[in-house]
Amino acid sequence: MAHRILLLEDEQAIADTLLYSLRSEGFEVMHVPLVREALAAFALQAPDLAILDVGLPDGNGFDVCRAIRKTSELPIVFLTARSEEIDRILGLELGADDYVSKPFSPREVCARVKAILRRSAVRPAATAPDAAPLQLDEAAQRIRCAGQWLALTRYEYRLLATLLKRPQRIFSRAELMDLVWDDASDTADRTVDAHIKLVRAKLRDAGASADLIQTHRHMGYSLSA
Ligand code: CA
Repeated sequence: MAHRILLLEDEQAIADTLLYSLRSEGFEVMHVPLVREALAAFALQAPDLAILDVGLPDGNGFDVCRAIRKTSELPIVFLTARSEEIDRILGLELGADDYVSKPFSPREVCARVKAILRRSAVRPAATAPDAAPLQLDEAAQRIRCAGQWLALTRYEYRLLATLLKRPQRIFSRAELMDLVWDDASDTADRTVDAHIKLVRAKLRDAGASADLIQTHRHMGYSLSA
């Protein structure tokens, strides 16, 4: 059966390209341009995933996300034009599953949607509590591995925490620079690589398996689930 996607986007041109791509991938898409219509569609149509724009004529996508999260673990992907929104989107406050930065390619959105639906199909086994080798303590900004707290520098912590919050998601070096470093413009690809190397060494010392952080050629890094 086709997966049903709720698309909340008020710019018709953006909606049209997404509708075309998603439908040609076999998804059933309900497109609405307003917050109140999105909330109604969520309640009545039981979508399998929601794609939410942030700025809308009658409110914003964050409110829709919060409303959905009160009753449902529905996978949610945000469309965002501002990198400073990403932390809120993925963080505890909103708990969305992923985001795509505007301008985006519709193919990228389709790829993200498929990956999330695959992931949520296997969720029960993948998130068994004992299976998680790493535990994130955001309040104290520390991470535990195999029962011991890792001695991480500020950037090592932020890097590993970023990967840990989205297991299996591939982050490009540019995205990691943006999310982890205060002044990303001063940061080179090799800075990211060097920190990954340091974090891997600390994980290894703590007894984690060597391939916990995976390298994806020409794409970036991810944390294996
Ligand atoms: Ca908009």
